[in-house]
Amino acid sequence: MPEVSDVPQEADRRPLGIFGGTFDPVHFAHLRLAEEAADALGLAGVRWIPAGRPALREAPRVSAGQRLEMVRLAIAGNPRFVLDEAEVRAAQPSYTVPTLERLRQPALCGAQRPLVLLVGADAFAGMSSWHRWENLFTLAHIAVAHRPGFPVLADSLPPPLATACRDRLCADPSSLAEAPAGRIVSFAMTQLDISATKIRALLSNGISAQYLLPDALLDYIRTHHFYAEN
Ligand code: ATP
Repeated sequence: MPEVSDVPQEADRRPLGIFGGTFDPVHFAHLRLAEEAADALGLAGVRWIPAGRPALREAPRVSAGQRLEMVRLAIAGNPRFVLDEAEVRAAQPSYTVPTLERLRQPALCGAQRPLVLLVGADAFAGMSSWHRWENLFTLAHIAVAHRPGFPVLADSLPPPLATACRDRLCADPSSLAEAPAGRIVSFAMTQLDISATKIRALLSNGISAQYLLPDALLDYIRTHHFYAEN
């Protein structure tokens, strides 16, 4: 799997997608979000960053290492996807701003490369509760994927977030390549009403989750008896 620094030089000038999540487990909506973002936003690739200990939610059902392995299985063979293992190995909880600061180090992405944080509409609406959230805009652009049941950029955003968005919204995704950070776009990915919560509930009730996530993952989940107990 190539590291960011292995991406060919001309690709390096294109924006790089950053996709963090708990991925408990990763599913087809995550995969389509990253794949469609790469095409819609002209990304050189997408760096997947499973959270070690997610900061703002209850403890995941399976360990960080096992969630990492599930993402590794899910993205295998996609040349545009890269796995970032650093948050899973970190001792401290995963926060997005420190993660982006790490990526801005010269040995990784540096200060100038456009970075695009990929989030679903639900995650975006909660962004103003994130640790040091106002720093996000100096570190990355934000691309908001439509998600069933969650309005995108609606008046219902918390006022501080709505205010922060006002001057940053861009209709044209190609403008993301013009600056390293600070702009917000939304994109209408194929709407898939899939969530990890729903998959965990199905599996813990002994109901099939096939066609919601890759078969290889279902085999892995079955082998390790994840999400089985009710
Ligand atoms: P859970 O149900 O456990 O909260 P989840 O399915 O929302 O999990 P996460 O790992 O929390 O998955 O999400 C990672 C990112 O993927 C978030 O930005 C989230 O908004 C986005 N995402 C997850 N599912 C979808 C979906 N069906 N459509 C669009 N975005 C999604």
